[in-house]
Amino acid sequence: MSLSQLARSICESPTLKLNETAALLKEKGEPVIHLGGGEPKSKAPIDAIVSCTSVLNTGDVKYTPADGIPALKKAIIRYTEEHYGRTVSPDNVIASSGAKQAIMVLFHAILDPKQEVVFPVPFWVSYPEMVKLAGGVPVPVAARDGSFEPTVDEIAEAVGPYTKAIVLNSPNNPSGAVYSEEFVAGVVELCEKRSLYLVMDDTYNRLIFDGRTPTNCYRYAGIHNLDRSKLVVVNCVSKMYAMTGFRIGWAVGNRELVRAMANIQSQETSGPATPSQWAAVGALNGVQSSIESLRLTLENNRNVMIKRLQAFDGVKVTKPGGTFYCFPDFSAFEKDSAKLSRYLLEKVRVVTVPGREFGMEGRLRLSFCGTMKEITEGLQRIQWALDPNAPNELFLGDRKLVRDWR
Ligand code: PMP
Repeated sequence: MSLSQLARSICESPTLKLNETAALLKEKGEPVIHLGGGEPKSKAPIDAIVSCTSVLNTGDVKYTPADGIPALKKAIIRYTEEHYGRTVSPDNVIASSGAKQAIMVLFHAILDPKQEVVFPVPFWVSYPEMVKLAGGVPVPVAARDGSFEPTVDEIAEAVGPYTKAIVLNSPNNPSGAVYSEEFVAGVVELCEKRSLYLVMDDTYNRLIFDGRTPTNCYRYAGIHNLDRSKLVVVNCVSKMYAMTGFRIGWAVGNRELVRAMANIQSQETSGPATPSQWAAVGALNGVQSSIESLRLTLENNRNVMIKRLQAFDGVKVTKPGGTFYCFPDFSAFEKDSAKLSRYLLEKVRVVTVPGREFGMEGRLRLSFCGTMKEITEGLQRIQWALDPNAPNELFLGDRKLVRDWR
């Protein structure tokens, strides 16, 4: 078969693939526990559903402007005012089919062939592939001290003549790390000094724990006129409102860039699905209590997951400050994270995501967005599979597992 070089260079999204594998096993009646997921269990806010269905009920569902309906832009402007203290105009806003598309059209709009995009390790699995799709070169930067946050100097060392942008995602998928204010401030300053785009992927910005407040990158900007700034903030309704399937995200940036992104989007997909845009309007303008209730549930889940992992001999774990992921180090048991992940799925039917996908070996990404039962049972199974001192037998529902591999 004749496929393009580009197609042959792009990997499938490992997290979406794992969802498929888990669903197939579940269909066969296997007692799978999914600790690899990337979406909250809760339902979309009622205001989103009412707004969406009222459009559907008219039967009048048509194309929208490529960069989003005015009502959605207005809601995003209000959100930006409330949470970032910045007043922006509709020309600074583009709504896309998920944060993923917003980032993709952004890369298409700024990257010439071989230009580089720098981001810290560990990174969201899609950044390298998305950069490559847009013809660019991904440049991951690992902290020399092995932590989840490189220094500003380490980031600066990776910046060269081909660098076009830096991407920061805080709280971070997969580590759950909330970058320090100093780090964000330093990278904002670095980007302004070197005239680089800074993409702040704030997808998990509101899902933050321990009384911390979400980082507002604009606080550190020296360039106050947004239309002269290369700072772009990306967000979505996917995680904070548990609306992953609606596929609505957005970007806020300078109007020239946003116009270019809108042109690209208009040729690629046109505007995001109309009912989904109205659902996002409902969520953004409606009662906001679902975010806090999700955040509290996740914080509680995190506490339980971390406590259990800390009690697990040989596992090293850093407490996540946000998101619904943690990224423990299992290298004492197995250095090859893909092998370990496969082993856990095969032996105890627990889905995890190999750290390798996020640029760090020896680790697994474990999600705590599921139920408490999934978290406790999932960890119990992992411990049983790895701990040589664990009892010989484990019950998975009514099925008895007998250890036969050590
Ligand atoms: N950025 C990060 C860091 C993510 O984790 C995700 C989703 N997993 C996205 C962007 C994409 O979000 P959406 O579903 O809105 O496309």
